[in-house]
Amino acid sequence: MKAAVLSGIRSIDIREFPDPKLSSPTDVLLRVAMVGICGTDFHYYRQGRVGDQAIKYPSLIGHECVAVVEKIGDQVTRVRPNDCVVVDPAVSCGHCDQCKAGRSHTCLNLHFLGFPGQMEGCLCEFIVIPEKNCYLIEGELTLLQGTLVEPLSIGVYGIELLKELEAKTIGILGCGPIGLSVLLVAQIACIQSISVTDKIQERLTIALNNGACWAGNPEELDVVAGIKKQAGELDVVLECCGDQQALDQGVDLLKPGGKLLILGIPDQSRVSFDINKLRRKEISIQNVRRQNRCTQKAIDLIASKKVSVDFMLTHTFPLERTKEAFEIAANYRDGVIKVMITP
Ligand SMILES: [Zn+2]
Ligand SMILES: [Zn+2]
Repeated sequence: MKAAVLSGIRSIDIREFPDPKLSSPTDVLLRVAMVGICGTDFHYYRQGRVGDQAIKYPSLIGHECVAVVEKIGDQVTRVRPNDCVVVDPAVSCGHCDQCKAGRSHTCLNLHFLGFPGQMEGCLCEFIVIPEKNCYLIEGELTLLQGTLVEPLSIGVYGIELLKELEAKTIGILGCGPIGLSVLLVAQIACIQSISVTDKIQERLTIALNNGACWAGNPEELDVVAGIKKQAGELDVVLECCGDQQALDQGVDLLKPGGKLLILGIPDQSRVSFDINKLRRKEISIQNVRRQNRCTQKAIDLIASKKVSVDFMLTHTFPLERTKEAFEIAANYRDGVIKVMITP
């Protein structure tokens, strides 16, 4: 099969590999139909690492995909050949303490698709994955929409955490696919006011059209003052860009007792906080690790048309042009939000 392989910093080659084979009776062999490129893939492309997790070359990345079932293991019961499925890229073990506690997203033996050292990615023609990671594409859901399920599921999870906090006023700092996914779910979650920031004007316009009450560019204005003037101090801030300045703005925006949820992944391994501000306002900080049990919920939100994700699909490239796709997306050119690859 053909695969788009990361062979160095900003270097991608198309190479031939042997087709993967079914190895467990509960696995399925999938023909990859479409792959969404994710922020973490850009980290690997630009820096060869995500945080302290370095890549070894050559490496097969990519984890957001829809696929067609080619072959099934003997014990597979829910999917059949020719079914179209959304792939949940996180393969948990099911028996560690975390899995038993209902936290399969922090499974101690997690294998994540396209995560170096765990599993080969899906920027290729075929993958093998357990049946439990396949979700049927049925009814109104299209293949294209299916590739947006993984980022949307992170938005669903972020908003579930918010609901537990009974947040009424929130800020979303960063409006890439994750920030926008949070916004789409927040919009239907009875939140009184949603303020957003981003450095790209087009994304601010999109956010205003999708439920944001206030949107501003931190390179052009004092977003903290702007948001406070409009919405007051916030209950919760969701940091969705991995940026030190945004983390600081998040702390400044919160009311005493407020909570900062960190969804973004910074380029560097360490970030800092003003401990005096955190202490005086008794700010809580929570990291959000991808998502937990939100894949089907994200599918249902799209299929029932409660949220519309189609606007995020801005570019599509064949596998052979994966490098070009990464360049456009990594440089935020052409109004790009989400780039798709069709193997
Ligand atoms: Zn992703
Ligand atoms: Zn586990």
